[in-house]
Amino acid sequence: MNTSPVIAIHGGAGTILRTAMASETEAQYLAALSGILAAGQKILAEGGSALDAVTEAVRLLEDCPFFNAGHGSVFTAAGTHELDASIMDGRTLEAGAVCCVKRVRNPVLAARRVLEHSEHVLFTGEGAEAFAAAQGLEFVEPGYFHTDARHRQWLLARGAQRAMLDHDGATLAAGVDKASDNAAHQAEAGEGGLPHEPIDPNRKHGTVGAVALDVQGHLAAATSTGGVTNKQPGRVGDSPLIGAGCYADDATCAVSTTGSGEMFMRMVAAYDVAAQMRYGGATLADAAANVVMERLPRIDGRGGLIAVDARGNVTLPFNTEGMYRGYARVGDAPVVAIYR
Ligand code: ASP
Repeated sequence: MNTSPVIAIHGGAGTILRTAMASETEAQYLAALSGILAAGQKILAEGGSALDAVTEAVRLLEDCPFFNAGHGSVFTAAGTHELDASIMDGRTLEAGAVCCVKRVRNPVLAARRVLEHSEHVLFTGEGAEAFAAAQGLEFVEPGYFHTDARHRQWLLARGAQRAMLDHDGATLAAGVDKASDNAAHQAEAGEGGLPHEPIDPNRKHGTVGAVALDVQGHLAAATSTGGVTNKQPGRVGDSPLIGAGCYADDATCAVSTTGSGEMFMRMVAAYDVAAQMRYGGATLADAAANVVMERLPRIDGRGGLIAVDARGNVTLPFNTEGMYRGYARVGDAPVVAIYR
């Protein structure tokens, strides 16, 4: 048991092979994760709330083009961007979320405003943008979300007439189109593509998230995503849905997920971790492992989650080969990892 404040983050899961990862690329991802953890850790160290720590961590993840959220989000079938985000305060069970927003620079900030300044929990599309505008949030032209790498990825997904999980097209964009391609081949995938992501094209998930425990013993979680490449306009995944992609309750745990959203929705994955703890007396680690390693695979659900409980236990399970992830306790150096 460790009750010091702690924050954990994720930046997507998939078949991330150590042998396929150029050391420079690996260093870039690890540095991004460490820097963002340090920012959240600083808030907690200064006595800030878990809610503030997860908000800031996810805002930074949204601004980082490596990850499928905010700047760097994937394209819809219409060549547009539709972003989803959610946040929940374990202290009060208050929650806020937005989905299908196209011009709000940081969807997690819009979700936070919904939590704090609205009687509602979830806003969609134009209504979400009107709310964000009334709250004075920063708007950007849709082109802000464009990255050449994601655009190439979308063109390939569109050509294949399928929707792809987050960075799936990144490897395709570099000419690698089979999960069975060898590691060396995959390592070349980053050339001119997404930040050299050596991820199996058929087994990748994106999305970003954060969970935290603060010095007061309160929990919070936040999740943000661009969704899946070439998704139908209007499609919404698990990320903005309280209970599926995000959940926090001081009585149990805080959870943020990444993976095949439809399956996480069907499993009510984030809440299921909390429910197993609350009603079944499971530990955080056992509940999270059951959801990720047993329940989700039954319906072909791939991905992972990050979770923290009120005692400061942290778990980061995933059923793919890797997940960009890390955690940082106040007073300790951040711990970051990619592979299984
Ligand atoms: N869960 C996200 C969604 O379905 C995608 C992901 O995590 O990659 O929108």
